[in-house]
Amino acid sequence: SDCKATEAKIVVSGKMGVGKSALVVRYLTKRFIWEYDPTLESTYRHQITIEDDVMNMEILDTAGQLGEDSTNQWEGHVRWGDGFLLVYSVDDRESFENIAQLKNFLDDIKKPRNVSMVMMANKTDLERERVVSTDEGEKLAQTLACAYYEGSALLGDGVIGEAFEELCREVRRRKMME
Ligand code: GDP
Ligand code: MG
Repeated sequence: SDCKATEAKIVVSGKMGVGKSALVVRYLTKRFIWEYDPTLESTYRHQITIEDDVMNMEILDTAGQLGEDSTNQWEGHVRWGDGFLLVYSVDDRESFENIAQLKNFLDDIKKPRNVSMVMMANKTDLERERVVSTDEGEKLAQTLACAYYEGSALLGDGVIGEAFEELCREVRRRKMME
């Protein structure tokens, strides 16, 4: 219904240490926090306006990671969420490989529906430590049929807001089609 289309439950997922909390805090407060309790799972509320509609976002900053924590916990997150920000870090190849696993897991639980997703590569400020190229990121996003953004929570470019808001728009579009 139209009413439902004004809510977006966003789940921020990805390997531990990729900067999920830093991205969420940067997006919501415009600040960068160097050390954020890696075991802390938090939900934040935020409002944005899309095409004259106020969207109520709930953002779940997850703490565990798929495959490490109980599958039950992850299933709960995935069932709860409308949209998923899949985060990896350009200096961590394992975190990049984790994205495809996450996508498979999402598909399994959300089927037969498609899932709203956006991919976010973080820590582009670490140029010299970079092991995953922009090209690889874009290719994977193409394969997974989702938008791709890259940026740095540390530097705090506008890309972070764009990634969250594109995901919110994607959730809205999908809900309006239902
Ligand atoms: P999470 O486990 O995914 O929530 O990751 P955190 O947000 O706790 O960040 C993990 C570590 O990466 C912390 O030491 C952060 O300071 C650091 N970090 C996060 N984002 C960036 C970034 O854009 N650039 C750099 N250089 N470090 C970052
Ligand atoms: Mg965290």
